[in-house]
Amino acid sequence: MMQFKEAWELIGGLSKPSKMPWWSYSIPATACKTGSVLAQTHGTVCHNCYALKGFYNMPVVRKALDRRLKAMDDPRFEDAFIVVLTDLWARSKEGENRFRWFDSGDIQSEEHLTKINNIAKATPTVRHWLPTKEAGIVAAWMKKHGDFSFNLTVRQSNPMVGATFKKAHRLPFSTVDAKSKWLKQCKAPDQGNKCLGCDQCWNNKIKGVNYHEH
Ligand code: SF4
Repeated sequence: MMQFKEAWELIGGLSKPSKMPWWSYSIPATACKTGSVLAQTHGTVCHNCYALKGFYNMPVVRKALDRRLKAMDDPRFEDAFIVVLTDLWARSKEGENRFRWFDSGDIQSEEHLTKINNIAKATPTVRHWLPTKEAGIVAAWMKKHGDFSFNLTVRQSNPMVGATFKKAHRLPFSTVDAKSKWLKQCKAPDQGNKCLGCDQCWNNKIKGVNYHEH
């Protein structure tokens, strides 16, 4: 059995964005397959992407992001991630368990999605939220494998600012500055840009969550 320190190093460590209630995992936004194309286009949610500038662009941070992207292809990645999350959950004094995939970056392949789903299955006490713009990868994966683990909310991001999906969309989703009465509004702008007690993004029964453009 791998020890925590070895597992932490193998996955390249986790990130702790100030908005999030617990830990997160990030890889380079420059590796986003759909997002890097959207980033070139006005009116998309990736134009002006926060993960392509500022803190995320510092050499030390970029190095860490590159290390994690490479780590995802290591055959021991799943085992190491399970060790890390299981240990952090056991040490979580407040019982916090809201883990976010990719505060920077996005899934790269169906293989990555399988690894994430397997990690979720093996860490049933942890709630996983995976926001993604990779609708094609997700659709192909679901066609082969069916539904995701009960504790993994894959939330599809609408690529266009102001646009929404239909309420009957297959996956939970998110929008930016969309106008629809039944969308749940992100609470972070009213609470110091933090999630605090809000868990809407982790709740796969909540179909649509709307964010404000930042
Ligand atoms: S909707 Fe809630 S959980 Fe999602 S980002 Fe906003 S504050 Fe956080």
